[in-house]
Amino acid sequence: MCKERAQEIVIISTRRKVSNGDTMKYITILGSTGSIGTQTLDVVRSNKDIKVIALGAGSNIERLEQQIREFKPEVVSVWEEEKAKQLANNIKDLNTKVLCGMEGLMEISTIEKVEIVVTAIVGMIGIRPTISAILAGKHIALANKETLVTAGHIIMPLAKEKNVKILPVDSEHSAIFQCLNGENEKEIDKILLTASGGPFRGFTREQMKNVQVEHALKHPNWSMGRKITIDSSTMVNKGLEVIEAKWLFDVDFDNIEVVVQPQSVIHSMVQFIDGAIMAQLGTPDMKLPIQYALYYPERRVLGGDRLDFSTLGQLTFEKPDMENFRGLKLAYEAGRKGGNVPTIFNAANEKAVQLFLDRQIAYLDIPDIIEASMSTIAFRNNPSVEEILLTEQETYQFIKERWN
Ligand code: NAD
Ligand code: MG
Repeated sequence: MCKERAQEIVIISTRRKVSNGDTMKYITILGSTGSIGTQTLDVVRSNKDIKVIALGAGSNIERLEQQIREFKPEVVSVWEEEKAKQLANNIKDLNTKVLCGMEGLMEISTIEKVEIVVTAIVGMIGIRPTISAILAGKHIALANKETLVTAGHIIMPLAKEKNVKILPVDSEHSAIFQCLNGENEKEIDKILLTASGGPFRGFTREQMKNVQVEHALKHPNWSMGRKITIDSSTMVNKGLEVIEAKWLFDVDFDNIEVVVQPQSVIHSMVQFIDGAIMAQLGTPDMKLPIQYALYYPERRVLGGDRLDFSTLGQLTFEKPDMENFRGLKLAYEAGRKGGNVPTIFNAANEKAVQLFLDRQIAYLDIPDIIEASMSTIAFRNNPSVEEILLTEQETYQFIKERWN
């Protein structure tokens, strides 16, 4: 029924949606059962002119079935074949088609009438569906940062060539994108990427030695998926975001500065060549960047709390601690080296986080594994998609031999 990795990127349709007076916005959501996916569906629920055509998910077929019954997509894709069969059986009473595997993900990313593909899948598994979607002329609402970190050198030029927008969903990048509205990107002096510092801000390495899964899963300000929550605690997430920003806004690493802003009120800032700084502020709610990406350049009403400066009291700022939080330092190093090094950084982190969540390794093994992988796996310049995926496998193999 489905192959794990379809060999070729299938271009199902390269035609753009033709304007025929239909004002509905048709979307596909990859990763619909996750944190960003479900919040995207919240945005869909509160807007009348948007329709979900396809949903993709990993294995949570119970939640996916609820979503199918509510949003009535034409087609869905489930990663595991067995689960896809179960789901197909459970929704026999509906007309929704069920696909599976990489082929399914690529197919739902290229459906002709879809205008925007929301990439809310976690991990570099998102690379091939994202490329397929761009080839088919779909705009990308991008949450899946791992894809841009590993394949930004392929995705950004391709999007430009296909005249496709890469609309950031990550809150910091959405903030930067909003600050750049009406501005000239050539006049950026630097990007000030804010970070909360996570639950272990101020910790020494000694204090981090005994960190357990449950501690690391408690983020002070945001409620997110498990992997990104661990990444936020190690500051690897901020490292991935630095590389993500480099690709989205075409700035050098020297011009991306991380600023710790523990209250998570300033979502990021841009400093221009004349010294002016623009910032986007708000309560921590991912529905704002999601909705902004879906309706850009339009702003829509969004419910929820508003920032109240009288109760906020103060905003504080710190320099990131790159000595105790080596994930951020290693990300800058990976980004500056380029080639397949960001892929090694990302793949090593994906595997290490999985091992940590499975209680196979200690918390501080995560940066050790990343560092060891970066100094062991062979360098490849300008890697193709195949070479990126090969680097991922080489990294996994190295970690398996050394840590399992
Ligand atoms: P999550 O773990 O909550 O959800 C991940 C989704 O991906 C789920 O629907 C899961 O079923 C799906 N998935 C996983 N493996 C899959 C596979 N092989 N095939 C198909 N689907 C698969 O993660 P999340 O927190 O929603 O994060 C998603 C992405 O968005 C990540 O790249 C993350 O870095 C980014 N992001 C998340 C947030 C947030 O607030 N959660 C903020 C900014 C960026
Ligand atoms: Mg973010």
